[in-house]
Amino acid sequence: MSASQPGKLQPLTAGEMPLVSRAPGQPTTIVEVGKVRFGAEQVVIIGGPCAVEDAEQISGIAAEVARAGGAMLRGGAWKPRTSPYAFQGLGEEGLALLAAARHTSGLPFVTEVMDPRDVAIVAETADMLQIGSRSVQNFPLLREVGASGKPVLLKRGMMTTVAEWLNAAEYVLAAGGRDLVFCERGIRTFEPSMRNTLDVGSVAVLRERTHLPVIVDPSHAAGSRRFVAPLAQAAVAAGADGLLIETHLDPERALSDAGQSLTPAEFQSLTDTCRAIARAIGRDV
Ligand code: PEP
Ligand code: MN
Repeated sequence: MSASQPGKLQPLTAGEMPLVSRAPGQPTTIVEVGKVRFGAEQVVIIGGPCAVEDAEQISGIAAEVARAGGAMLRGGAWKPRTSPYAFQGLGEEGLALLAAARHTSGLPFVTEVMDPRDVAIVAETADMLQIGSRSVQNFPLLREVGASGKPVLLKRGMMTTVAEWLNAAEYVLAAGGRDLVFCERGIRTFEPSMRNTLDVGSVAVLRERTHLPVIVDPSHAAGSRRFVAPLAQAAVAAGADGLLIETHLDPERALSDAGQSLTPAEFQSLTDTCRAIARAIGRDV
């Protein structure tokens, strides 16, 4: 029989991935973060700023995210910036502000950890640990995060193939992690009209390859606020289990990713539209 027979799974690369692979007939694993359930009927919308900037900013936007139907809060305390002179995040102070915003809004939060030495402190406070695009093949970090036992949000690297991304998740699970959610956020291609090219097809590919949930971050793919909603809508239609959306009380004044951050009103309108699309395919927001 030909290796290219339609309907047959083609090998992505050499390498077994026993922990992340979906066995025939295996249902999607539900990843729980507090009351939030990834991989269930509900499409989970995570909203918040790129970076935590101060107490009013993060608690104010957390209230807006909750009001608009968001299920989780995001915000970076340690930011991977291209320039070493750009705002690097508030570090531990940012974590404390996220914890306070969780308290007032009732939303659990996800935040990025970049340095294996920070995993213990972030794991102590955060509900879910984000591995950013630039860290997806930082193997010591993947192991440390896996060993923490906390739920993990694993971004796709801007230059990683699906196979490399799946293997990164295998590292987390091999180190003891159990609860992992993939997050497609666009890849670098020859096309410069958006910040990255959203590979919405990876949602369908991952659905076939892995039993773990997959969400989409249209904000970092779009790079401009006017493109975020159409990409979010495509992601929900393609079967994503959730969305990660950057939103800010005053986007133009955001200290990072100002151009792609939605106003609270735009965030509300995005959740409303995505709810309608989710309902059309037997899901909800
Ligand atoms: C972020 O979520 O703010 C971020 C830095 O994303 P990425 O790692 O996808 O660039
Ligand atoms: Mn960002």
